[in-house]
Amino acid sequence: TEACLGAVEAAGALNAFVHKTPDMARDMARAADERIKAGNAVPMTGIPLGIKDLFCTTGVESQAASRILDGFRPEYESTVTQNLWDAGAVMLGKLNMDEFAMGSSNETSTYGNAVNPWKGKDGAELTPGGSSGGSSAAVAADLCLAATGTDTGGSIRQPAAFTGTVGLKPTYGRVSRWGTIAFASSLDQAGPMTKTVRDAAIMLGAMASVDDKDSTSADIPVPDFEAALTGDIRGKKIGIPREYRIDGIPDEIDALWRQGAEMLRDAGAEIVDISLPHTKYALPAYYVIAPAEASSNLARYDGVRYGRRAKLGQGDGINDMYEKTRAEGFGPEVQRRVMIGTYVLSAGFYDAYYNRARKVRALIKRDFDQVYADGVDAILTPATPSSAFALGSMAKADPVEMYLNDVFTVTVNLAGLPGISVPVGLDGQGLPLGLQLIGRPFDEGELLNVAQVME
Ligand code: GLN
Repeated sequence: TEACLGAVEAAGALNAFVHKTPDMARDMARAADERIKAGNAVPMTGIPLGIKDLFCTTGVESQAASRILDGFRPEYESTVTQNLWDAGAVMLGKLNMDEFAMGSSNETSTYGNAVNPWKGKDGAELTPGGSSGGSSAAVAADLCLAATGTDTGGSIRQPAAFTGTVGLKPTYGRVSRWGTIAFASSLDQAGPMTKTVRDAAIMLGAMASVDDKDSTSADIPVPDFEAALTGDIRGKKIGIPREYRIDGIPDEIDALWRQGAEMLRDAGAEIVDISLPHTKYALPAYYVIAPAEASSNLARYDGVRYGRRAKLGQGDGINDMYEKTRAEGFGPEVQRRVMIGTYVLSAGFYDAYYNRARKVRALIKRDFDQVYADGVDAILTPATPSSAFALGSMAKADPVEMYLNDVFTVTVNLAGLPGISVPVGLDGQGLPLGLQLIGRPFDEGELLNVAQVME
């Protein structure tokens, strides 16, 4: 814990930790020592962690990287973090992210972006990915042994791929969403961001639970994920979906994808071509459904119940208070999502956009169900269409350019499946590249087992 606290202090330029809790960390580390002495330790005991700013932590700023939650200190602890503390883990502080987890580069954060510890050509500063960019930067730079992330459309897997770390999005319902600030409730899932697949297995075991406080928490027991890491994948069927061979992805990502398949074949798996025909509609469906749910979830930030309220003028009424508070509290990307969400849910456009997107979502899920029914055990794809890009390089005028980053990851959230990004190689600039494996629902153990073969 002391070593991590020192590393956090020394790495201020990465802007990964946005609230530090050194006193709490030392108290927790002492308690962990006692627990180890008493013989009650489990594998997470005494492990120093960073926590994404999206998780509510009692008495510690929990702002979702938004101005509208300035100074918000919850009176309750999220189930995920409580589970980790119950296992004896140590909190170093809160990690940077995109505002309300909306973004792919960490550039929508009210704290300013976190920075990738990997550097581009001529030392160019790169994005650590988003939205869990503080988490990926902190793990990659050895500021903590692991971190929590959340993934609504790729926010664990893409930052992991951009920093050479491991990121696991569990099956929807595996990890409780209680106390995790909501973005899109039917897609959000928290998961571990770690240095190794084994660490991900251990940490997922500690984070996951069946939780009465979350009606979407699945009543399925949490197995020993580490025990599933047998290294034996002989006879497993790994699907390569032809629809993921999209135009314009760099040759080196294509080559890495083939290399990953080779590694799995060498370990005794069978590689099969599969089809997920509705893949091309996933991104548009996601960018209707996620904003729709966000516009509803974010209605609670009204200047009354949480965080910040705008200064009001003489004669301002309650509507002025809402408008001014939300106009100054939400950044441009969040405002864009609220506008899109409100539009697609409005009476005149509901059928044309929201309902249609829901139907597409059902078809996407059916594609996966079919492939798994045909005996496929896991699906291998690239994690991202590029390696980490330079900060500031995406055109602000065209948000769709940024949205295209999520092309390989959003299908997994729409279908509620588990997905993991594993670092497999480097590109021509020496930057990390990740591959994604998609598993069967509630079989994270087997997913981790296959992933470990490519590590
Ligand atoms: N980049 C995606 C978005 O902006 C995904 C974010 C996430 O998974 N939280 O919506």
